[in-house]
This record gives sequence, structure tokens and C-alpha cells, in this order.
Amino acid sequence: MIPTETDKKLKKIKEEVINCKKCSLYRDRIDNKYYPVIGEGNHQAKVIFIGEAPGANEAKTGRPFCGASGKILDKLLESVGIERKDIYIANILKCRPPNNRNPKTEEIFACVPYLEKQIEVIKPRLICPLGNYSTAFILEKYGLKDEIQGIGKIHGKLFKTKASFGKKEIIPFYHPAVAVYNANMKEILEKDFQILKSFI
Ligand code: URA
Ligand code: SF4
Repeated sequence: MIPTETDKKLKKIKEEVINCKKCSLYRDRIDNKYYPVIGEGNHQAKVIFIGEAPGANEAKTGRPFCGASGKILDKLLESVGIERKDIYIANILKCRPPNNRNPKTEEIFACVPYLEKQIEVIKPRLICPLGNYSTAFILEKYGLKDEIQGIGKIHGKLFKTKASFGKKEIIPFYHPAVAVYNANMKEILEKDFQILKSFI
């Protein structure tokens, strides 16, 4: 298939990330022979999901959400009739923080330009940030700073805003990792995901 302009632009971002040394997570990546996890899915997606950072499974394969959280995400998507090939999935941080610790402010600051470019190129109608870090980043980026609260308060809520390329909706969800050992959280996520049915 002939690559589209979008394919070419995403490939360029990929090359930039592969060569990136903008924060100290780069060292860790090299030392552990990890891959950066750049993003994956449909380049024409109307919906983009944004996680936090790669875990061990992701860093070993270069693929987003391919471990325990990924299994939960797949089930949630399936429950509303969405397949991975319909959407795009990326993370705030492209390299794995040691021991899955929380992202540091300076790491987020260094890494988000890649995610911003990915969104700019894919132009999704709907952005679904997963968890506190990506929700705070996305709401602030789209002029909704005053709406930022803990994910416990705003999960499943629809926010409307505008991007340079048109109208945009944002629905934050709990990060699927919270449901790995917690059936209650899984139920809440399942309920929240129902809202996605009206977008497909
Ligand atoms: N958790 C994330 O936030 N992203 C992944 O890619 C995997 C687990
Ligand atoms: Fe670069 Fe992001 Fe990796 Fe840091 S986490 S080295 S900013 S790609």
C-alpha cells in the first residue's frame, strides 16, 4: 500500500522518538535493551486512547498495552464493539520509568511534544485519557485546566472543546491497571465505557 501523508508524518515521529535522549529515561532504555513504545493503531482513527507509560511487557515488545492492563483494555473495548484496529493508542511517556514509578514532571515536559504531534497528525474526534496523568495533561492542553480533578471525580465524563483541526471531545477514564486486582473498579470501567457506544 502506498503510504499516506499521515503515515509518513507518523513514521517521522517514530524516528524522532527512537533517537530521543531528552530525558534520563533514555539511559534506562538503553541499559535494559528496552524499546520505546511510540503508539499503535489506526492512522485515521476517530478515537485515541492515551495511557501513562510503558510497563515491562510494553518496553520489551515496543507495543502499548500488551500486558495485564492491556488485556483489561481489550475486554473493555470489546464490550462496546470497538477493535484495536479502529483506534489509536499512545502514552504520555514513550520510555518505561524504572519499576513503573510515576512519571516525573520533567519527563512529561520532555516527552509530550511527541504525543502532541501524534494527535495533530491523526486528528481524532475523541480523546480518551486513561488515569490521572494523561487526563490532567489533555484537559490542560485543550483549555480545560479549571476542570482538572482527580480521576475519581471526572471518570466517564464528557468534555467538549476545540482543537486547531476542529471540534473535539474528551472522555477521561480510570487507568485499566486499577482493575487488574479489583473487580469493583472493573465494573466502574465497564459502565463508563458504555458512553463510547454513541461514538462508533
Ligand atoms: N500502562 C500504560 O499506561 N501504558 C501502556 O502502554 C501499558 C500499561
Ligand atoms: Fe525521549 Fe520521551 Fe524517552 Fe524521555 S521518555 S527519552 S523524552 S522518548
